[in-house]
Amino acid sequence: MSVIPYGKQSIDREDQERVVEALLSEFITQGPRVGDFEEALASRVEAPGAVAVANGTLALEIAYAAAGLQAGERILVPAITFLATASAAMRLGAEPVFVDVEEDTGLLSMSDLEVKLERYGKSVRMVAPVHLAGESVDLRALRGRVGGSIRIVEDAAHALGAVDSGGQPIGAGHESDAAIFSFHPVKHITTGEGGAILSRDEELLAKARELRSHGMHKDPERFVLDPKSPFAGDFYYECAELGWNARLTDIQAALGLSQLAKLDGFLERRRAIAGAYDRALREAPFAERLRPLRVREPAHHAYHLYVIRVLPRDPAEPLESIALRRRSLFNHLAEGGVRAQIHYIPLPLQPVYRRFVSDPLRDFPGAMRYFAGAISLPLYPDLEDAQQAAVLELLREWCER
Ligand SMILES: *Cc1c(COP(=O)(O)O)cnc(C)c1O
Repeated sequence: MSVIPYGKQSIDREDQERVVEALLSEFITQGPRVGDFEEALASRVEAPGAVAVANGTLALEIAYAAAGLQAGERILVPAITFLATASAAMRLGAEPVFVDVEEDTGLLSMSDLEVKLERYGKSVRMVAPVHLAGESVDLRALRGRVGGSIRIVEDAAHALGAVDSGGQPIGAGHESDAAIFSFHPVKHITTGEGGAILSRDEELLAKARELRSHGMHKDPERFVLDPKSPFAGDFYYECAELGWNARLTDIQAALGLSQLAKLDGFLERRRAIAGAYDRALREAPFAERLRPLRVREPAHHAYHLYVIRVLPRDPAEPLESIALRRRSLFNHLAEGGVRAQIHYIPLPLQPVYRRFVSDPLRDFPGAMRYFAGAISLPLYPDLEDAQQAAVLELLREWCER
């Protein structure tokens, strides 16, 4: 049997045809398809606009910059997330302040957020909630707590198609300043590499659009050069601010458009697979050994990941012992041809972030407990029922030994 990964893309004939069409068209970058993709994406998540970029990491970097994060300022980032949520801020010269997570969801802990807001006061400019696995952070409560002066940029890389506790699609942005998505092949839809920034703030979107393409603009109102100068003309542009080349190509946008049309089907299949895991894991021999993350409302969850936790044998079992058993489960799955994954190693443990942390084990008890037992099972639309049954059979062997 071939190896079963934790996640992968679904590409069909339609996708292939759209990509080839784009490839043979006049513009293979900065053509019409990028705008079409942005419009379709914004409409899907009920946001007024979107800016597509080269990947989710650059989407974070540009969204942070467009929302005003500056060198020397601080941004609150959950301890459990992908590297990019924090590193994008560091690229701008800002400093990540890690916030502990709830052990049973991996989501930002509101009580630790409180502590960090107290400790760092006005130097905190921004917070980046992460909708881990596809479960949404309570954005209304978060906005209520941080108020209007702290900017909220959602890392929604796991949450395309999720619905928040207020009934709004993630990305609609009613309670945040911006949200980003990623179109890496393991995410809900793919463009190979790709990402997008969504916001209700037209100025923020315009800024992001400029930053995506070197910070260039052709707005005569803002030109420093006198419009009557002999050096002015239709060709003229100015660059007032350092930007990036973070453009998505039309070839990628063609794939994105085709994929987006299938998002609802993908979500339905992801929710069905998650439901089947849920039902199986409620029974013996699983229920005493393993538990999925706590989910608010399965129909509102985007199920980017299906994370289970190895339960402690008793309340006093040390973390090291849970971690050893989790590793044995990981290895057992690997020997059976299932490539599970761990999402994520707490960021405070990473050498690159250690200078922002004093004692990760003491300061992030929720993240360490979450991490010690967490493991992500295969979940993607093309996962076949027989493959899911094989995964469950390996889990059963491990639970029974
Ligand atoms: C995938 C991901 C990113 C980065 O997206 P890329 O497109 O891979 O650059 C950022 N944050 C989270 C939580 C992710 O899962």
